[in-house]
Amino acid sequence: MPYAVTHVLITILILDLFRHYIFGKEKFPRYLVVLGGIAGLAPDIDIPLSWLYGLMTGTVADFHGLFTHSLIFPLLFLLAASLLYWKGNKHWAAVSLVIAAGWFLHPTLDCFFGGYKNLFWPLPWATSFCPEWTIGNYYAAIDAILLVVWMVHEEVHKRIKDYI
Ligand SMILES: [Zn+2]
Repeated sequence: MPYAVTHVLITILILDLFRHYIFGKEKFPRYLVVLGGIAGLAPDIDIPLSWLYGLMTGTVADFHGLFTHSLIFPLLFLLAASLLYWKGNKHWAAVSLVIAAGWFLHPTLDCFFGGYKNLFWPLPWATSFCPEWTIGNYYAAIDAILLVVWMVHEEVHKRIKDYI
């Protein structure tokens, strides 16, 4: 699985591309990008929850990747976004939509970086399409390249001051 920073970084970069090139800054305020970035890390809540459960029960527990990486969560947020939009609540619809996007990107990235098996929980289907490669050795380099490319992109478009 990618580093926590990679999850947040890639999610924010993708949301920011949508913000700049599709929706525009007015319709897509920056806090939505931040919220999406946090949602991009949310599925890994199962790591501290495993520690907590282990601590409380005196056992070694590891739920990582078992439940929270299921695509059912982004689907539920997408459903909530549709309902809220339909009810005319555009603010909370947008909030739900970026959470859905961030949450969806997490297991997608995990899969792309080397494979998780419970994307369809609670259904019993196991995934076999995630590539099994060894890009794990390059995680830090991937972060560095992404960050530099993004900074150059922002500088070229005179937007770097957005972040400072
Ligand atoms: Zn994960």
